[in-house]
Amino acid sequence: MSFADLNLIPEIQRAVADEGYTEPTPIQAKAIPAVLERRDIMGCAQTGTGKTAGFTLPLLQLLSPYANSSPSPARHTVRALILTPTRELAAQVSDSVKTYGKHLKLRSTVVYGGVDMLPQTKALREGVEILVATPGRLLDHVQQKSVSLGQVEILVLDEADRMLDMGFLPDIRRILALLPAQRQSLLFSATFSEDIKKLANQMLRSPTLIEVARRNAPADLVDHQVYEVETTRKRALLAHLIRSRDMKQVLVFVRMKRDCNKLARELVRDGINATAIHSDRTQGEREQALADFKEGRSTVLVATDIAARGIDIAELPFVINYELPYTPEDYVHRIGRTGRAGLTGEAISLVSAEENRLLVEIEKLLKRAIPRKDVEGNDPEQTRERRPRREVAEEPAADAKPRPARRPPAPPRVASDGFDFSKPYEPTPSAAAAPATEKPASIKPRGSRPTAALLGGFAAKDRK
Ligand code: AMP
Repeated sequence: MSFADLNLIPEIQRAVADEGYTEPTPIQAKAIPAVLERRDIMGCAQTGTGKTAGFTLPLLQLLSPYANSSPSPARHTVRALILTPTRELAAQVSDSVKTYGKHLKLRSTVVYGGVDMLPQTKALREGVEILVATPGRLLDHVQQKSVSLGQVEILVLDEADRMLDMGFLPDIRRILALLPAQRQSLLFSATFSEDIKKLANQMLRSPTLIEVARRNAPADLVDHQVYEVETTRKRALLAHLIRSRDMKQVLVFVRMKRDCNKLARELVRDGINATAIHSDRTQGEREQALADFKEGRSTVLVATDIAARGIDIAELPFVINYELPYTPEDYVHRIGRTGRAGLTGEAISLVSAEENRLLVEIEKLLKRAIPRKDVEGNDPEQTRERRPRREVAEEPAADAKPRPARRPPAPPRVASDGFDFSKPYEPTPSAAAAPATEKPASIKPRGSRPTAALLGGFAAKDRK
């Protein structure tokens, strides 16, 4: 299929060709015709699948009759509203709207928090057809009467799962109440929880369901690996992996904002070019960190889950989980930064004994065991840079726990009955059909072995 088969108007086809896209991605092939037919959409797709163009191209086409070059604000009313959870994603989507709409006389702007409202107010007052916004800042502008949403024809909720995770549901409800009831609504989400389904039921009318990746499944192109390592040895192992594998661009995840800066600083001390991105940094600092990383001025970007949400970096080859996230869905989001647009990527997790429980949850969600890797020819202890005692005393990890006397033994790869633990988990047909929220205990791979058991997590009552 080519873009020409999708009945896109020449102005949009030209913009797509300018970007060098030759054929639509699967989500684009499905979403574009449905949106053009003015259908509501429930799209299950991760970032990296081309979903932004999937909704932006047809949206531009539907609004193209409104294109005009009049300077009068009255001739430029908000017709499409795109809501995103984070500033970074809002900025990226806004860039895409401008890129794909560059041959059309439609105006667009973006509003998000953390920056001066005045320039945003000015742009809104001058009039736009397409508004990209984060929910809180949009409501600020509504309150100040710098924007009216009464003529919105198309609403897009991008990364709806993350919006709910971030507590935006009340704001979304307020915004929905400001929109005309008669409108087209598109909801995109990487995962579909019960809350998302509830929201979809409220805001979508007979939606077309578009699913391009397995539910709650990360891109198959990603190679997942786990290194079992003590917390205190993680930094040495990280530096070793970056150096020995000659990584040029790697996104590293930590859980806490304060650990972002700390790890970036420590890596710099180790001679690795690193920068940090988290929500306590100013918007300018975040943009600079992202630009440095994208343009290759820094090798490592250390990020928290929230700050990294929606970051689009073409061909990002490595994501490293320095710490596992507390929710397995965040693992899926994190590794969605790599393995994009048909390219392979590696998702490497450094897992301490304390994090084994989180790893089990992730493997349950992925419905497979992640292979354990050894650091060939490397003892992390030896590569660990000696740190002054004082510094260690000054910066104790808040969640520091007594170090286990010995590293816990790795789970066996091949069981006594010949079962190979390192092989991907194969669900039984009933497990495969089960909803993503199903209790893991009912997932029975190969006979009656629960996934947790495969990973060494036998409870006494399960040992039969
Ligand atoms: P998204 O999932 O919207 O974040 O897009 C991921 C990446 O894929 C972006 O860098 C887009 O520029 C790129 N992209 C989108 N559509 C296509 C296409 N049809 N062909 C090649 N690349 C694309």
